[in-house]
Amino acid sequence: MQHYTQSEAYTQIGLDIINSNPDFEHLKGADVRVAFLSCTKPKRSKNKVTFGECIKVTEINKVFNPYDFFIVIYEPNVENFTDTQIKILIEHELMHIGVEYKDGEAIYYLVPHDLEDFKNIIDKYGTDWAEV
Ligand SMILES: [Zn+2]
Repeated sequence: MQHYTQSEAYTQIGLDIINSNPDFEHLKGADVRVAFLSCTKPKRSKNKVTFGECIKVTEINKVFNPYDFFIVIYEPNVENFTDTQIKILIEHELMHIGVEYKDGEAIYYLVPHDLEDFKNIIDKYGTDWAEV
């Protein structure tokens, strides 16, 4: 059974964030390809519920798919989220996408959190944005 599907709703939210939020100016210029996925399987990591995840596609996997990153939202873990919380979560996941240029070529990497969360997410929404 396939638990992952591409989500049109999350794609729309993600593109809106990239296009309207100055924090993501660097992603607009880069041709970074992001697939927004919905997963029906719950996920936990280090005993904590995982709401979403940003996964960098490895070079070898790009042979079989055209994306640089997957942003996965774990549906069972966000079923009580409001629309606003979903947007903040997607914004959080987008912040994991790092782009660097070397000899004119874009190099992608995963940006780690500066705290438990990203500082600008906390500044904008507080530390308890994910409380449901
Ligand atoms: Zn994160």
